[in-house]
Amino acid sequence: MRLVCASANPAKVAELARLMPPRVELVPRPGSIGDVEETAPTLQGNAVIKAVEVANHVEGWAIADDTGLEVNALGGEPGVRSARYAGEPPDDARNRAKLLAALEGAADRSARFRTVVAIVSWQGDMHYETGECAGTIAAEERGTNGFGYDSIFVPDEGDGRTFAEMTAQEKDAVSHRGRAMAKVPGLIARITGTSPA
Ligand code: IMP
Repeated sequence: MRLVCASANPAKVAELARLMPPRVELVPRPGSIGDVEETAPTLQGNAVIKAVEVANHVEGWAIADDTGLEVNALGGEPGVRSARYAGEPPDDARNRAKLLAALEGAADRSARFRTVVAIVSWQGDMHYETGECAGTIAAEERGTNGFGYDSIFVPDEGDGRTFAEMTAQEKDAVSHRGRAMAKVPGLIARITGTSPA
């Protein structure tokens, strides 16, 4: 099966590529597609907007993921607004700095990443998988791997290191995206009528 990747973020594309079942050919997003506005109020809605735009453009199947970081002390913020938490244009470093400032002195630093993966076709087929990863927001940035909020997120199922201090394989084993993508072989098998890869 051929899936066109709706994400333009190279770090995220690299994660999706290494988590993809071997039978699936992941094709990069065509450069001719402009930026897609993520206007939905939910992760699922935004994943669909991104995937449908690309699927229609290529007249094929597309995959998109939308991710949010939900911080309990902030009532679930930044959530669906995670990419633009510190305003426009989206800026990972400014987002992390704003979050650390918002949690200064907070006793409860618990949070979770939530990902919705959408696999859709230009003919209207829509399938979803979700993944979550619970953790805490670190007191300061640690580590240089990964992207986004990785350097301030410490997964509960770890040894106290942030995602950015882990190898890619260690992150994948417990991450929201790793968990959502672990369900994709079964989903592809149902779509194509084959056995899981
Ligand atoms: P989006 O799903 O690309 O819209 O990402 C929403 C926000 O979450 C962006 O600021 C990303 O950098 C961030 N993000 C998405 N996935 C991850 C991840 O696996 N680790 C850390 N930050 C992430």
